[in-house]
Amino acid sequence: MEKEEKGITVKKADDFSEWYSQLIQKAQLADVRFGIQGFIVHRPWGFKIIKKIYEYLEEEVENQEHDPMLFPIAVKEESLMKEKEHAGFSPEVFWVTHAGSKKLEERFALRPTGETQIYPVYSLWFRSHKDLPFKAYQSRHTVFRNEMTTRPFLRGREFAFFETHNVYNTHKEALDQIKLDLKTCDEVIRKKAKIPFLYFKRPAWDKFKGADNTFTPDTIMPDGKRNQLASTHDLGTNFAEAYDIRVTDEKEKKKYVWQTCFGPGVWRIMAAIIAIHGDDKGLIVPFDMAPKQVVIIPIIFKNKTAKEVMNYIKIIEKKIAKADFKVIVDSSDNKPGFKFNHWELFGVPLRIEVGPKEVADKKVTIARRTDGNKTTVKATDIIKEIKKQAKELDSQIWKNAQKNFDHNTRDAKTLDDVKKIMKTHRGFIRIPFCSVDKDGEECAEILKAETQGGNICGTLYPKPEQVSKNDKCAVCKKQAKEIVYVAKSY
Ligand SMILES: [Zn+2]
Repeated sequence: MEKEEKGITVKKADDFSEWYSQLIQKAQLADVRFGIQGFIVHRPWGFKIIKKIYEYLEEEVENQEHDPMLFPIAVKEESLMKEKEHAGFSPEVFWVTHAGSKKLEERFALRPTGETQIYPVYSLWFRSHKDLPFKAYQSRHTVFRNEMTTRPFLRGREFAFFETHNVYNTHKEALDQIKLDLKTCDEVIRKKAKIPFLYFKRPAWDKFKGADNTFTPDTIMPDGKRNQLASTHDLGTNFAEAYDIRVTDEKEKKKYVWQTCFGPGVWRIMAAIIAIHGDDKGLIVPFDMAPKQVVIIPIIFKNKTAKEVMNYIKIIEKKIAKADFKVIVDSSDNKPGFKFNHWELFGVPLRIEVGPKEVADKKVTIARRTDGNKTTVKATDIIKEIKKQAKELDSQIWKNAQKNFDHNTRDAKTLDDVKKIMKTHRGFIRIPFCSVDKDGEECAEILKAETQGGNICGTLYPKPEQVSKNDKCAVCKKQAKEIVYVAKSY
């Protein structure tokens, strides 16, 4: 344990950016001192939370009959270039050009995402419509992009990835999968990670380049910026045509397949957990995602009673561990106050304090991380109480996140309104807009320039809001066809 540990020295509300950096470092989530810009080390405490995100995602997609697979880290140059205009990643990729001192005959890229490496191989796998649907995913791997500015869990040159790549006979099956992908976001991001978000259908100019449509859950971070937590793409037959993925139909005729891919942002979900739930004391995580759920802290005044307290703690610890909760006893030499601060910084949901009084009364005192509420219960009731407190903690985490999120949306009718609101409010701004097809791109660009980075997130999905007859595009004043949301993004 790092003895000179100090808590976070800034308030989240005063300097979010500094607070976020300090929390990541001091709660030992990641280490940015690796020495190559944009590459970070995932430390055990942080990686346990990330592992949990992966486990939840894997469970959801496997319930939907996806099978795991793993492709190499490399992408053939030819495959990457073939889809230059579709995947659009080539300027951002890292190239491997040498092995030892020898130049490779054929250089290859480190994968920036899966499509260009997976789909050429898919073209070898399927022959008949009977081979479909095919649903597979890759998990717990990383991808590489040459990002200029990097931030732990928000943007990196190497980052944690998860992706599904599905192949269907019909467009309808593909669209049904999109709905299931959104359900996965609901189950994992909303219900498990307790992050509120809105689903958007991205405007034509901001969808994934090879997709007919892109759908995303977006949340708002404490600095008011949009955090895109995942994306799912209706790929149509675009990649099938580019990589020649065809099957024979019932009449033995060759046809292109329909595809979807889904990429929950494992890092982005982690960033949202850290930023949205955390407070001035440190990390706060939902009970089931916590690396340790309960910490027991001995309160020892006189050495006389120390042994009794520690023996009593051993019994309590065993009981909690037997009930399958992740429990730790802090028997270090540090003062209780130091220990309280330490485990609050690390976001352990429940703290159990045991002193001579608790031993004498056969009781324990339980403190909750979210609001510090303390309850003293009989030791025999401890498991029941942990369950109750965990439930209350999770509900507080969700309510806090939801409360902040609900205050995030403002309405504006004109570009001037948007600019005015952006000066003080940070979050979504809802405006009438001419078009989310290509026609609207010019207005989107004007809006972005005039607001120093305001992006059109898209229309709400699956139910876009209706415009009224009097609604004019906030930018060009033509009849509005859509209600869109605007926010700045990372
Ligand atoms: Zn317009």
